[in-house]
Amino acid sequence: MQKTIIIFFGPPGSGKGTQAELLAKKTDWQKISTGDLLRSEVAAKTKLGKLADKYLKTGKLVPDRFIVEMVDNSLKKKSSGFIFDGYPRNLKQLKDLLLMFKKRIKKSAPIYAIEIAVSDKEVKQRLGQRRMCACGKVYHLLYNSPINEGICDICGGKLFTRNDDKPKVISHRLKVYHHDGQAVLDYWRVLGKLIKINGEQPIAKIHNDIMEKLRELKVI
Ligand code: AMP
Repeated sequence: MQKTIIIFFGPPGSGKGTQAELLAKKTDWQKISTGDLLRSEVAAKTKLGKLADKYLKTGKLVPDRFIVEMVDNSLKKKSSGFIFDGYPRNLKQLKDLLLMFKKRIKKSAPIYAIEIAVSDKEVKQRLGQRRMCACGKVYHLLYNSPINEGICDICGGKLFTRNDDKPKVISHRLKVYHHDGQAVLDYWRVLGKLIKINGEQPIAKIHNDIMEKLRELKVI
């Protein structure tokens, strides 16, 4: 079976998770977000969650060996496509992913990386203003604020700042992104499989740009 693989790439706060979700809604492809998977593990206090917690709090990458196993376990083998959000983040994870799919997909399978490009300055501004609710709803104090300050519109829960959205941690996450991610971006660029999208536009416009590119490339 021909399976499609789309990999969303971008700094923290670039909106790649939102775009991955929008694409998943338009297709029947499975979305896999390693950040979400790890946060669920932390919330459920599993063995992996307890280990991952300290990495998430400091913005460091969880060791690769735990990630590959977690991703492999989460794959719905029958899905006609996969959308990755936040994975692979470094060369080791990229190699693991290629190995994971070697037996599962044809050589001709469409595989593309979508880079959501956002400047560091914009990332710091966005993440500093991000608030979350335990129900999963995400707010932005400037662009998407709750009706009542500090309270979730959906469930009435108290909003909080993600530990890894604190200024010191944001700087560290950006450093890790640039350091480890450059080689991954270069890999896709050299293969001619990198789609670069301006992430400093309204969400709907970014989504349209992505859909247009994927149509052009006959992926959808
Ligand atoms: P994200 O939600 O993608 O911004 O990820 C939040 C945090 O989860 C990161 O700062 C890392 O600590 C961890 N994480 C998410 N994805 C990965 C990954 N592919 N490899 C290692 N750590 C990850």
